[in-house]
Order: sequence, then C-alpha cells, then structure tokens
Amino acid sequence: MGKLDGRVVLITGAARGQGEQEARLFAAEGARVVVADVLDDQGEDVAKDIGGGGAGGALYVHLDVSAEDDWTAAVATAKEAFGKIDGLVNNAGILRFNELTATPLEEFRQLMDVNQVGAFLGIRAVAPEIAAAGGGTIVNTASFTGVTGMAYVGAYAATKHAIIGLTKVAALELAGKGIRVNAVCPGAIDTAMSNPARLDPGSDTEEAAEALDGLYRRLVPLGRVGRPQEVARLALFLTSEEDSAYITGQPFVIDGGWLAGVSVI
Ligand code: NAD
Repeated sequence: MGKLDGRVVLITGAARGQGEQEARLFAAEGARVVVADVLDDQGEDVAKDIGGGGAGGALYVHLDVSAEDDWTAAVATAKEAFGKIDGLVNNAGILRFNELTATPLEEFRQLMDVNQVGAFLGIRAVAPEIAAAGGGTIVNTASFTGVTGMAYVGAYAATKHAIIGLTKVAALELAGKGIRVNAVCPGAIDTAMSNPARLDPGSDTEEAAEALDGLYRRLVPLGRVGRPQEVARLALFLTSEEDSAYITGQPFVIDGGWLAGVSVI
C-alpha cells in the first residue's frame, strides 16, 4: 500500500530537479501525478516514464506558473484526466545572482512573477479543487533563504520569504476546508539550479556531484550537498495524510544543518 494511494497531486516545475523526484516518488507511492512545467519535451518524458512504471500514473501539462490562464487550463486538463485534484506542490522556481543595488527592476519582477506570484496563483487555482475533493495538501517550495539572508540573492530571498508568509496565511484560511499548507526550505541541493554542470548533457554527473560536495564539505555540518530525492521525501511526508496529519502552516528547513549555527571548524 502506498502513502498516496487514491491521491491526485499537481507538481509544478516537475520536468527536472526536485520536482521530477517528487513526481517519481509520489507516483511510486500510489498517487496520480500531474507533471507541470514549461520544459515540454523533458516534462513529457518524465510523465511517460512514470506512467509506464509507477503504481499511480502521470500526465504532463504545459504550465507557466506566472500565467493565470495556464493555471485554469492545467486544472481543467487534470480534472478531466483524473477526476479531481487533492494535492499541490508549488515547486517551480528560478534563481538569479546579483548584488541588490545592481539588480535591474525587470529581474526583480521576473523572480517575483515566477516564484511568488506563481505560488499565489497555484494556491488560488487549486485550493477550491482540493476543497471540493474533500480536503488535501499544499506544499510550497521556499528555501533556506526564506528564513535567513544570503548575499547576492536579494530578489530570490525576498520571494522565498514571501512564500513562507503565503504558506502561513493559506494554512489559516484553508484549515477549515480540510487543506493543510506547509513549506519546504531546502539548503543547497544538487540540481541544475545549484549545479549548472547538470545542464550539460556531456558532463559526468558523478564528477559534478563530487565537485559540489567538495564545495559544501566545510560549509555544511553534514559535509555534502543535498539530493533532490531527499527533498522529495520531505514533500511526501507533508503530502501524506497519515504522516503529517496534525501539521500545517510551517516551514521545514532541509539543509544538512547549515542554518543550525556558526561553525568554528
Ligand atoms: P531546477 O532548476 O532543476 O528546477 C526548476 C524547475 O522549475 C525546472 O523544471 C524549470 O523548468 C521550472 N520552471 C522555471 N520557471 C517556470 C515557470 N515559469 N513555470 C513552470 N515551471 C517553471 O531547480 P530545483 O533545485 O529543482 O528547484 C526546485 C525548487 O527548489 C525551486 O523553487 C527552487 O527555488 C527551490 N530551491 C532549490 C535549491 C537548490 O539548491 N537547488 C535550494 C532551495 C530552494
């Protein structure tokens, strides 16, 4: 028996990285999964791969999370295919590095549009469906930069702080409808976002992972970068009705201990 038997979960940004691992894990735990992204070829491949092997099933939908109409269409497609939606993982996100005083307004707004407005539109479009299905879960993807500052990611950190605020308000407003809303706050995770070598199809992925581990050996108490599969396990915990039944409105840091305190070695 899977932890998500009978559930239908829409996951944004699921064509690669953490979202892909969430889609694969959720399907393996019995959910039918809506793989949503703007990377259509990669997203189709992930959905096809899951559809063939998982206990649940999967469908790809093109969804730019910053586009209101895309949300309306994605929800309609998902309901037509699976009859309902009772779970959402707002995972899609983008990162830009820039000194705050050098950040162009356009860049700041682009991050807000995808990371922050995207999560808002997702909650607004999907929460009524979850309520109609009798309740369920929303997991928002913030970041450890949602609970502390980090130099050169000002726009990104602002959106991730906002996601935690949104999570708390949504938890308060939606609890009465049987919807729990929580946030994951990953530290450095080995995906294309933190490790651009992953975007190069010719690169040795093991070598890329080792190089990244080397970088984080001193920074992170657990001595390595995180894996997208580990974030997926936390998202599964927060999506499972049994495992996290009494948890809502909370941010969960998953960072190998990076934020635990000041390291002296
Ligand atoms: P990633 O870049 O591999 O994946 C991000 C996914 O989001 C991609 O598939 C991308 O196509 C999709 N996406 C981007 N813009 C979109 C849009 N407008 N509409 C729909 N999809 C869109 O990186 P990842 O690490 O898997 O990132 C997943 C989430 O985790 C993001 O929200 C990111 O901010 C967050 N996060 C990542 C790290 C890290 O170190 N990798 C740390 C903290 C938080």
